[in-house]
Amino acid sequence: GITDMPVTESEALATLSRVFGYEAFRGEQEAIIEHVVAGGDALVLMPTGGGKSLCYQIPSLVRPGTGVVVSPLIALMQDQVDALRALGVRAGFINSTQDFDERRVVEAEFLAGELDLLYLAPERLRLEATRDLLSRGKIAVFAVDEAHCVSQWGHDFRPDYLALSMLGERWPDVPRIALTATATRATHEEITQRLGLPGARHFVASFDRPNIQYRIVPKTDPKKQLLAFLRQEHEGDAGIVYCLSRNSVERTAEFLTRNGIEAVPYHAGLDAGTRAAHQSRFLREDGLVVVATIAFGMGIDKPDVRFVAHLDLPKSVEGYYQETGRAGRDGLPSTAWMAYGLGDVVQQRKLIQSGEGDEAFRRRAAAHLDAMLALCETVDCRRGRLLAYFGQDPDPAGCGNCDTCLTPPETWDGTVAAQKALSAVVRLQRERGQKFGAGQIIDILLGKRTAKVIQFDHDQLSVFGIGEELTEGEWRGVVRQLLAQGLLAVEGEYGTLVLTDTSPSVLRREREVPLRKEPKKPAAARSGSAT
Ligand code: ADP
Ligand code: ZN
Repeated sequence: GITDMPVTESEALATLSRVFGYEAFRGEQEAIIEHVVAGGDALVLMPTGGGKSLCYQIPSLVRPGTGVVVSPLIALMQDQVDALRALGVRAGFINSTQDFDERRVVEAEFLAGELDLLYLAPERLRLEATRDLLSRGKIAVFAVDEAHCVSQWGHDFRPDYLALSMLGERWPDVPRIALTATATRATHEEITQRLGLPGARHFVASFDRPNIQYRIVPKTDPKKQLLAFLRQEHEGDAGIVYCLSRNSVERTAEFLTRNGIEAVPYHAGLDAGTRAAHQSRFLREDGLVVVATIAFGMGIDKPDVRFVAHLDLPKSVEGYYQETGRAGRDGLPSTAWMAYGLGDVVQQRKLIQSGEGDEAFRRRAAAHLDAMLALCETVDCRRGRLLAYFGQDPDPAGCGNCDTCLTPPETWDGTVAAQKALSAVVRLQRERGQKFGAGQIIDILLGKRTAKVIQFDHDQLSVFGIGEELTEGEWRGVVRQLLAQGLLAVEGEYGTLVLTDTSPSVLRREREVPLRKEPKKPAAARSGSAT
């Protein structure tokens, strides 16, 4: 810290205004800082943009010694340190991007007591050399940022975080503060246990972002839907559009630009110079749209992002919340908009099936996806679902600022339709020993004599044409919801449909299948990008 004077409450406030130029603390910041400055351990659960950094930066400045910050975001350390130095804070970092000499300089500064803050990558703390270095200096506080990385069940597990439990054993007198934006109740118990923080005080900020309107629309022609959304509601606004692949990032950015909306791509395949240029344009200019893979956004602090759009389904609710949370940090009305369809479910299920990792990893990924799908398919308030997911109590009356609150979706009894779809899958397999994807199953149900139907004689199946009462779009909705509910599964690299353990209960009429009604508008042709 800057001073060795006795600590008072107003010293924190004085530091806030003198160093950071802010007038008042936000939310629980003051209580957290007071607690840590007094030497207490803390677990801080605060949404992105809530102001977590000050919760350890101010104690680092106020308490004698250096605040040691463990962060997995190596790519951001240089920026964070530069920003702090610009404020006159003596900050440094140690990570793998440095050469020997650069590291020596930082180490010397630390040992000389000339650092207020030292950022460390977690893998550094596995090295005895680093621990030894820390033992020879004075530490004000340990901050473990992105603390959910310690959770093996989380979406962002880092094995190096497991070693952090030794901090409390080796430095019992140094207060520790663990911070995260993505903690379900289970994760926060895991953080407490694995980091050895049983006595830590918990500070849980509300995860509600009332100024963000959540909307999830059925995907038909995503680029066109996006364009219409932007023209109708966000002309000239800054925003982020997330796509899954680099290719669709590029195509979407081009498409928007061609249609008069200034947009730049951002993904890991672009060279560092281009990425940096696009990022700084986004921060500097008004009303620029960035089309990006999830590589974009970590540490981006732009207050007036008016919308976040997803053209593809995020892999987890945590991811969705974090990405949409980049909208509206200034508190003004903003939109989280997503187009979601059958193709998303098939694709994500396929990715998990064919992806790397062991069985436990796949089960975890599937559980994360299931929670995300449940959010997409719910007929209840989306905000309520989100808050409940993070262990917080939603307003039972609904939020009034999400699509399901604003225009409650209708439901219908999809039991018979579900039986028909499942029967088609069963017939193909039993009578022909074949498995097909959703497109062929739907063509069979609709009684369409397509080239592929003729080729395989599928017009001879007993289920051919038994589903003519529904449109193609409606069938896509049925199959999507069956996949989302786990009543159908996807297999192999072609994404063929197969039954699950629960499918027989539908076929035997032991179970009803309530479904969300698809909108009247006909779905786009299957040859389109919506599949
Ligand atoms: P988080 O790490 O929780 O995502 P940050 O610590 O990056 O959030 O803070 C988000 C933004 O809010 C930053 O621009 C930060 O400077 C600003 N901020 C934090 N606390 C205050 C405060 N008390 N007054 C004004 N601005 C604040
Ligand atoms: Zn709502």
